[in-house]
Amino acid sequence: MNTMEYIIETLKVLVNIPSPSGYTKEVMEYVRGQAEGFGYVCEYSQKGGLVIRVKGLKNETLGLSAHVDTLGAMVRSISREGMLKFTMVGGYTMQSIEGSYCRIHTRDRRVYTGTILSKSPSVHSYDDARTLERTERNMEIRIDERVKCKEDVIKLGINSGDYISFEANFEYTEKGFIKSRHLDDKASVAVLLGLLKEMSEGGLVPERNLKLLISNYEEVGFGASWIPEDITEFIAVDMGVIGDDLNGTEYAVSICAKDSSGPYDYDLTTALINLAKENHIDYAVDVFPHYGSDVSAAIRGGSNIRGALIGQGIHASHGMERTHRDSLENTLKLLKAYLFKL
Ligand SMILES: [Zn+2]
Repeated sequence: MNTMEYIIETLKVLVNIPSPSGYTKEVMEYVRGQAEGFGYVCEYSQKGGLVIRVKGLKNETLGLSAHVDTLGAMVRSISREGMLKFTMVGGYTMQSIEGSYCRIHTRDRRVYTGTILSKSPSVHSYDDARTLERTERNMEIRIDERVKCKEDVIKLGINSGDYISFEANFEYTEKGFIKSRHLDDKASVAVLLGLLKEMSEGGLVPERNLKLLISNYEEVGFGASWIPEDITEFIAVDMGVIGDDLNGTEYAVSICAKDSSGPYDYDLTTALINLAKENHIDYAVDVFPHYGSDVSAAIRGGSNIRGALIGQGIHASHGMERTHRDSLENTLKLLKAYLFKL
């Protein structure tokens, strides 16, 4: 299997393993299995993040990160009628999840399916089906079980604090588009695994040691608040924003110069832009207006690092996302250019 095929196949597996922030054990084990399969040593942080080590020629460490946690929800309470009220895990609009199928994961490992609806879910019966404001309070989950009241739901083993994951709906089209939830940031995790595959199979040794951090709380802001102490330079691989006045596309790799957390390292960002130019990689430099990354978390956590942010452009991010295979390939190319030609 070539690298791009591997990346897309892996992405399909990843998006279908439920992993809202803080509920990432299973997906992390999958990533660990892949990395170890390529012969790299892995270890978990106390927080449950994975660090994959790659030996380099020099005794300096470059960090790369991608987050494997996704948006999701948690049961807030059970209504008298046996519907679930929920609280968001991560930031999104109710419109982007209304009508989605979901799964409820109980703490004793039972899984139930359901659908996310507004409290006025049918135009046939509710005057305000169209106008009801879509807020957390006005949304609920219909469980696919014969339940009539709160007690029925409790008997299923469902309780407040149980995780809820959203179905991914992955599709890879003939024209190379990838449509799915959770491309943010599982697309980058797949790209990093693709990079490991190439390094492993090609016997490529990077100039510096690498530590790949697969983080698990990024969507709630503290993914990479801790990173291994020996990392001096840290590149977050995360989605590129598309839309409004931005330059990014679903085909290019985005290089972020500044986001809500502030500017990224000037020299490192410039080096990445120059490499993209020299290697004829389709790229876009952008300022992301509502965004923070694993680099932001690491710097806020006190890490003494130079940081940059790159990644494939994701359309309708935190909604029904889409990207194109070219964007994944351009992200991989830029990473390779940085690791092996600088
Ligand atoms: Zn992200």
